[in-house]
Amino acid sequence: MAKKIRYLDRNKEPMIEASERVKSFREYALGFSPNLALDEAKRCLFCKDAEQRCIKGCPIHVDIPGFIKKITEGDLLGAYKKIIETDVFPSICGRVCPQERQCEGSCILYYDTVRDRKAKGLPVSIGALEKFVGDFVRISGIKLTEEKALPTGMRVAVVGAGPSGLACAYDLAKRGHEVHVYEALPKAGGVMRYGIPPARLDREIIDYEVQRLESLGVKFFYGHVVGRTVSLSQLKEDYDAVYLSVGAGRGKLGLKGDHLKGVFSAIEVLTRVNLMEAYRFPEAPTPVDLGRKVAIIGGGFTAVDCAITSLRLGLETHVVYRRTRETSSARQEEWDHLLEEGAKIHWLTQPVEVLGNEKGEVIGLKCIKMELGEPDESGRPRPVPVPDSEHVIECDSVIFAIGQQANPLAYEGILETTRWGTVKVNEMYQTSVEGIFAGGDVINGGDTVVRSLAHGREAAKFIDEYLRTKNWTFTGG
Ligand code: FAD
Repeated sequence: MAKKIRYLDRNKEPMIEASERVKSFREYALGFSPNLALDEAKRCLFCKDAEQRCIKGCPIHVDIPGFIKKITEGDLLGAYKKIIETDVFPSICGRVCPQERQCEGSCILYYDTVRDRKAKGLPVSIGALEKFVGDFVRISGIKLTEEKALPTGMRVAVVGAGPSGLACAYDLAKRGHEVHVYEALPKAGGVMRYGIPPARLDREIIDYEVQRLESLGVKFFYGHVVGRTVSLSQLKEDYDAVYLSVGAGRGKLGLKGDHLKGVFSAIEVLTRVNLMEAYRFPEAPTPVDLGRKVAIIGGGFTAVDCAITSLRLGLETHVVYRRTRETSSARQEEWDHLLEEGAKIHWLTQPVEVLGNEKGEVIGLKCIKMELGEPDESGRPRPVPVPDSEHVIECDSVIFAIGQQANPLAYEGILETTRWGTVKVNEMYQTSVEGIFAGGDVINGGDTVVRSLAHGREAAKFIDEYLRTKNWTFTGG
């Protein structure tokens, strides 16, 4: 009998109620139960042309039908092994990847509702299934013996312990190299640790992945700011190769009034709360004072994470974005969650000035309304000001969640950079200095966890090749 195609009955991950979840930083998407996961896996049609669909949509080309098939067979360890052939951190990617624009956006059960508005059905919940498989292995405590090549005697330094550095370290260790990771912060994870709130990504998961690396022999050196504690050139002398993955974690301000007391960059607020646990102040030593009302400028992942954070700090939360919801780079479901949690979202609103009182403290954000005009160079309709639409959003603090930049401290004056300040590399992730490779946000200025991870893995392959051949082809330009 032909399989019934279940276009619409996509299983939903259970969530903590909005009124409850804003009271804590606990993860609110609770994950599939085994029954839900099995039922969802059975929706997959195991398309013959999956390589042109979900697999192609995934930036690292996980064998999606392959791992989902294993779930339907009850072989969860097999499903896990299938995923980590390409995605070393399933529990993380299952949670944070924008799947609707990647694998799920290419699922045959789905017809692009955003562009064509002809809904055929809902895609298989690939992200939630990946998360389920990763969580199953972690929570059940299964100790997986990961194969590792015999020691090569070669040593590689990785600078920065974000997803790119961690993925590179993983692959290099598996190839038998001795890997030392230098990280400025007291813990590993990069943005996943200091940016994404625990409400979206439980810290136990990052700790688990770091332990996996440690058990492969990777050594971590925390509190080492490359460019201060040790120079990149010194690392190049001390090691056979270096992988630079310092991300793009420098916040940017840029509006009249941004000198006022109460103006913050997103990275500062998120680091204080998510890494230093300012929400536990005074038990934790680091405070964060945003007053009672906060206005967050931006429409991407960072703005959403600031809003998740400020709502959990009990603040009246305004998000101000000059474009529309559809054109924002954050996930649509995240906007739904924020609205449920009580955030006020001001679409098509352009901030023009931060207003202050005589003490130099923020009292409001002056904005104008926008409407959509002709497409700009990115193809998106350009927002244009609506005449006489000036208004003020009253607030005690303003967070800039726009345009993070690479921080050049580690490589300034050493590596060639682009005009955007990112590190120049060739297709093998080689930089202008022989022996130093780079990848992740430091070369692309800000992307996604999965793409940074992909850079790390690909770079590991080229580093391994370089260690054997000493072939260096960077020509600049
Ligand atoms: P990072 O994650 O930035 O890691 C770089 C590491 O290098 C950091 O640990 C840093 O402390 C360290 N470092 C920096 N300078 C030095 C130095 N001089 N010496 C030593 N160490 C140094 N993507 C998604 O796919 N999904 C999401 O939900 C998502 N949410 C996001 C939320 C926020 C707030 C932000 C800012 C980004 C988000 N992104 C998301 C994007 C994603 O997190 C990044 O693309 C990714 O983390 C980049 O990885 P990376 O390893 O290149 O750099």
